[in-house]
Amino acid sequence: MLDIKWIRNHQEQVVEAARNKGLHDFSIEQLLRADEKRRELRQRVDELRTERNRASADIAQFISQKQNQQADNKKEQVRQCNAALNEFEAELRELEAQFHELMLTVPNVVSPETPLGVTDEDNMVIKVVGAPKRFEFEPRDHVRIGEELDLIDIPRGVKVAGTRNYYLKGMGLYLHRAVQQLAIDLLVDKGFTVMDVPLMVREETLIHAAFFPGGKDQTYELTDESKWLVGTSEGPLISYYANEVVDLSKGPIRLAGVSNCFRKEAGSAGRDVRGLYRVHQFAKVEQVILCENDPIIAEKLLAEITENAERILELLELPYRVVAVCTGDMGGKNYKQYDIETWMPSRDNYGETHSSSSLLDYQARRSGIRYMHPEGGLQYVYTLNNTAVATPRILIPLLENHQQADGSIYIPVALRPYMRGMSSIPGN
Ligand code: AMP
Repeated sequence: MLDIKWIRNHQEQVVEAARNKGLHDFSIEQLLRADEKRRELRQRVDELRTERNRASADIAQFISQKQNQQADNKKEQVRQCNAALNEFEAELRELEAQFHELMLTVPNVVSPETPLGVTDEDNMVIKVVGAPKRFEFEPRDHVRIGEELDLIDIPRGVKVAGTRNYYLKGMGLYLHRAVQQLAIDLLVDKGFTVMDVPLMVREETLIHAAFFPGGKDQTYELTDESKWLVGTSEGPLISYYANEVVDLSKGPIRLAGVSNCFRKEAGSAGRDVRGLYRVHQFAKVEQVILCENDPIIAEKLLAEITENAERILELLELPYRVVAVCTGDMGGKNYKQYDIETWMPSRDNYGETHSSSSLLDYQARRSGIRYMHPEGGLQYVYTLNNTAVATPRILIPLLENHQQADGSIYIPVALRPYMRGMSSIPGN
């Protein structure tokens, strides 16, 4: 959420952000009309309250002076004010609610460095690490490797739970947990507080983190409970401090959520249907940072959380690249975004594995997260987030890049402590 006073004075910037992000339904005129109507009515209500308070004070005075007729007149005036107030206050509540709903749809502005564009094809590659893997034998894709080594069972996942579901078995499950534990250990060493988070959350949690109102069609609702299944731990991590004043005197707050994530993947029909790339349930270790409202600090922290993810890919010995995400691909809530894409031989291309974002105070305003500014006064914090590792998607590059001619899978050195010390998964 942006500040309405700021919006009034920077209308063109907001309109431009909405246009560049492809949010064609957003109307600044509608928002400003709603803002004006509620402000007019608020003023009318304030005037009526003042009139009523004055008349009430007069009544007491007239009674003490035994001026009964004047007192009765004032009583009538108070009665009329109260009747009008009842009506106007109800109308004002309605207008404030409508205005708030519209405010939730205002997109965040975009950093000046963000490339202009419409789809992910317009993202800009800014860094490439390692070379795409080439094989001297016919490589298999992760689905075949998973079947042949009994690591992944997709047909039974579909039988039991429908499309985009799977089982991980034996060393497949070990790999899934090993990458998460590697990420957890790395983040703990870097000062993050790791958290197991609620997965069934209230609607307001997802409004706070700016997944709602836009993302309802992507989210599983537990209607009996009036709750929603999280698509990422970013929601519960941001809401952890909702409506609180946080202490940033010792520096930024670094949180890491470890969770399962559930996504409907509405609108993805027919896309990435083979294998583990786009599934309904996956696990993610997520980084979230809360910091002072200083763009220079936020920029450094965006680099930090991006580098943490890159370090994990280096430890997994995988080739990857970093892209600056363009306006049309970045989502309404983000100010600046980098994606990391890891080489996936079966796609003969890089595929997105991490998404690193800076949001300024957009989430904090919705969530009411403030801190005491060193120069005095409460101010909204800035927030940032990035994937540390998401699995099973990361198993695609792991299995495919590290397959050997004899059918075995090489296990990167850093993963071995979490893989019972194994240096490879034997082939069949
Ligand atoms: P996001 O939270 O949307 O920024 O996604 C972060 C990461 O989670 C992505 O880069 C993927 O690695 C992973 N991910 C997102 N959606 C899915 C999905 N439907 N299936 C598997 N992995 C996913």
